[in-house]
Amino acid sequence: MDNTRKFDKVVNLAKNRGFVFPSAEIYGGLNSTYDYGPLGVELKNNIKKAWWDFMLAQPDVVGLDSAILSHPKIWEASGHLESFTDPLVDCKKCKARFRSDHLLEKKGLKPNYLKDKPPKNNKVRCPDCGGELTGVRQFNLMFKTFLGPVEDQANQIYLRPETAQGIYLNFLNIKESMRLKMPFGVAQIGKAFRNEITPGNFIFRMREFEQMEMQYFVRASEADKIFNQWKKWRYDWYLSLGVKKENLRFREHDQDELAHYAKKAVDIEYRFDFSKNETFKELEGIHHRGTWDLCRHQEFSGEKFTVRDESGEEYLPTVVETSGGADRSLLAFLMDAYQEIEGGRTTTTKSTKEVETVLKLHPKLVPIKIAILPLSKKEQLAKLAKEIYNSLANKYRLQYDETSAIGRRYRRQDEIGTPYCVTIDFDSLEDKKVTVRDRDSMKQERIAIAELSAYFQEKFD
Ligand code: ATP
Repeated sequence: MDNTRKFDKVVNLAKNRGFVFPSAEIYGGLNSTYDYGPLGVELKNNIKKAWWDFMLAQPDVVGLDSAILSHPKIWEASGHLESFTDPLVDCKKCKARFRSDHLLEKKGLKPNYLKDKPPKNNKVRCPDCGGELTGVRQFNLMFKTFLGPVEDQANQIYLRPETAQGIYLNFLNIKESMRLKMPFGVAQIGKAFRNEITPGNFIFRMREFEQMEMQYFVRASEADKIFNQWKKWRYDWYLSLGVKKENLRFREHDQDELAHYAKKAVDIEYRFDFSKNETFKELEGIHHRGTWDLCRHQEFSGEKFTVRDESGEEYLPTVVETSGGADRSLLAFLMDAYQEIEGGRTTTTKSTKEVETVLKLHPKLVPIKIAILPLSKKEQLAKLAKEIYNSLANKYRLQYDETSAIGRRYRRQDEIGTPYCVTIDFDSLEDKKVTVRDRDSMKQERIAIAELSAYFQEKFD
């Protein structure tokens, strides 16, 4: 199946199986905002936990959770008020709005980052009606709101468009309170908000999303080495969670494409295949931000951000950033894991001749680790099944399902990626054993109930 079709299937599965719902659907939806359902929130939490554990396992990385509502001075200092813009064009005929770089990309043309001309001198026209496009205007992506009851300029604040600034503002607090020696990193997961001109492709581009960012503070002379190290580590992280190598790649940013703060940037891209010319798209950025941020905050706040090394030399730390999205990576993990098997994998019943869907998510990420399936609803079996459920529920997220034929129940679990199903049958009452079925191999093993906990411990640890 090609990826473009797969994308539609994943969007459907996400909605129908409780991963992601369009937000405010009963009121017609709020463009590009989504709610995570019972399985989606588990998957997303598991992704965030895998990221957090990976980051905090580094001996020199600590965590932070900073505020979303942010002081206007932050964005003046960071340059976002002036430069955090996207190139906007309007169709003169139908008045639709687009991002000019995206229109070019869709046509297979290299985006030009020129500020004021119609994209590629009129070679590109409105994709909706074929009309002529206006010149490019820069549109600031930050959401404004007001602090307190008076809605005037003096009380205007912003929803953060990236989590990174909260880390820079707390650089000294963290260094001093934790008595950290240079170099060190600070990791943060949290919501960010961008008034995107053209959100879309499901949860790939939203106006409210979650970032997983780490800022590493280092001496300038060490920054290139650190940049390359994190670049590799972050790429390997996706592989370690099962993303297929052929679907990942690096892309270096050209000089004219660099964000206002960046000296050097490389994206880790995933092959989403949204359309013919939108194959690989950004999943995460690794950025060499130089001393830009600390230098500007030093200048705007009057606070000193320099540090001293052992020899007493004073310097302003350089920042290497890894900046990924929890939602985008969730979409990539779902796309990568999604498989359809024509005619089904099992041949025992007629119903299994249907197309079978298997979500081959990494066991660390799956929303449900184990399904507990009593073969019948009969009291004796239900009692034992519930005992087993209770014995595992503190450690693993479980699902209890006693409705419909066992083959159908297995397929329901395959569809949401559950790696193991535990079936309790009438023999279980006698031999005190259950059948454990593996999602990928479909092998079934008879395991003593008394050994289940140790069995799963080995599988999941
Ligand atoms: P793009 O070029 O796709 O707009 P960006 O270069 O602006 O992305 P960064 O500012 O580097 O993105 O943000 C870091 C990460 O945050 C991205 O790699 C992505 O995973 C995530 N992200 C950024 N914007 C969005 C969005 N609108 N919706 C969902 N995730 C996003």
